[in-house]
Amino acid sequence: MQAVVIGGGVVGSLIARELSRFRIKVVLVEKSEDIGQGVTKANSAILHGGYDDPPGTLRARFCAPGNLMFDKLAEELKFPVKRTGSIVVAKDRNELPKLEELLQNGINNGVKDLRIVGKNELRELEPHISDEFNYALFCGTAGITEPWMVAIASAMNVAANGGEVVTGEEVIGGKINEGRVTEVFLSSGRKIEADLVINAAGLFYEKVASAFNVNVPPVHLRKGEYILLDKKASELVNMIIFPLPTAAGKGKLVVPTVDGGVLLGPTSVELPEFSPEDVSTTDSGLTSVRESGEYLIPGIDNAKWFIKSFAGLRPETVQKDFYIKRAEELANFITVGAMRSPGLTAAPAIAEFVVSMIVPETGIDLVRRDDFVPCLEERVKIKELPAGKVSEMIDENPAYGRIVCQCNEVSEAEIVQAIRDGARTIDGIKFRTRAGFGRCQGGFCSWNIAKILARELKKDLSEVRQNSEGSWIVDGKVRQ
Ligand SMILES: Cc1cc2nc3c(=O)[nH]c(=O)nc-3n(C[C@H](O)[C@H](O)[C@H](O)COP(=O)(O)OP(=O)(O)OC[C@H]3O[C@@H](n4cnc5c(N)ncnc54)[C@H](O)[C@@H]3O)c2cc1C
Repeated sequence: MQAVVIGGGVVGSLIARELSRFRIKVVLVEKSEDIGQGVTKANSAILHGGYDDPPGTLRARFCAPGNLMFDKLAEELKFPVKRTGSIVVAKDRNELPKLEELLQNGINNGVKDLRIVGKNELRELEPHISDEFNYALFCGTAGITEPWMVAIASAMNVAANGGEVVTGEEVIGGKINEGRVTEVFLSSGRKIEADLVINAAGLFYEKVASAFNVNVPPVHLRKGEYILLDKKASELVNMIIFPLPTAAGKGKLVVPTVDGGVLLGPTSVELPEFSPEDVSTTDSGLTSVRESGEYLIPGIDNAKWFIKSFAGLRPETVQKDFYIKRAEELANFITVGAMRSPGLTAAPAIAEFVVSMIVPETGIDLVRRDDFVPCLEERVKIKELPAGKVSEMIDENPAYGRIVCQCNEVSEAEIVQAIRDGARTIDGIKFRTRAGFGRCQGGFCSWNIAKILARELKKDLSEVRQNSEGSWIVDGKVRQ
């Protein structure tokens, strides 16, 4: 039996990994050059507690359990998780009922370690919070991660368990026979036999469904703009800080990142049409993000700390909920779409649910393997090792001593390992090793990374790309 999972974001990769526990060959197909480069790349990276998702929604059902699955998952797949905790801040007694409502909702949703704190404890938790705030809802299970690494590591684990990971190829349709998909067609012309198809195509779940003549709720996009701040800003921030939520969502936050920076944002703006390429930022959006950050943590709006701005797109439906369903039109086609926030947090619980509860509806009886290997080998990060250990490693392999990314101290040996793990572009290296993620955003190291990519992949430099088709680094030689 063979399952085809369409979409190598956090959702598709985790479902593919979950399927790998069973006796079914798994093929994960991603149209980008790399895994985890869709919605999974540009978001707040928060493992939400799960206290604000409305009762009765799939968001409420899967967020808190998904959150609690991350420690084991991180241990197995070797991606970072920091349980920073989070606070939702309120000014005075007039705003307290909103915190109490969130607390009660959280208790109903099964959220652990959730309580309202007063002024003194709030100052202990977050010493630089604005004096305006006197109460907060504290959630101890909230945390942060690197969402793209969750997807990349899951896909690597799929391959390690005998599955196939196809990148740079788009699913364009398939062959249908007696109400079931029997083959999936790729843009290259390749045809893959399929007993089961999972549509986890992120922003494109509706497009993929319609390629198989399946009806799903229409998608619209909601943009979120961010500013990334230098590590120096982290001196002002211990945990994830939310303002009181509004009808538009969770509000604009202050969020520490796992590598020591701070994010401000996101905005929440509905796009008038389906424009999945529109990840532009705007003056008004970034100004509002800065103002909100300053409102929560006075002094954080410091232009010297701004590193970059970026935007992510949320796939939304009018129901404002995830869509997880076997198609009525096709017995073996399952869509897992509309994965707006908290889709990252909920993803591990959703993967388990899809495989244990929805796949049986397709008539497929999955049999558990006894040789599934859940763990990946830890990848070396010399920045995190004691000096003595680094010297030993350099003695063994001098490439550990050649630092390519000065900002995040990433060595040539780590970059070569990332290429062996599947990185094919400069962004592929960046997201796996953090080379190019620091203060200079790759201004100094991209060129050297491009040369290492060309050398290791035996390509000409003109063939090395930043990320997608057309994002070349050099066009040709100006002198022979
Ligand atoms: C601004 C913003 C903030 C957010 N903050 C949080 C947060 O803090 N915490 C949280 O829990 N959630 C958050 N989310 C939600 C979370 O990021 C998403 O739920 C999650 O990343 C969705 O993952 P996915 O795998 O469904 O989509 P994607 O990551 O987009 O993956 C889908 C993949 O399918 C591929 N694909 C599409 N069509 C095809 C095709 N035809 N063939 C092959 N491949 C195809 C795409 O290239 C893409 O890589 C946020 C989202 C946004 C936008």
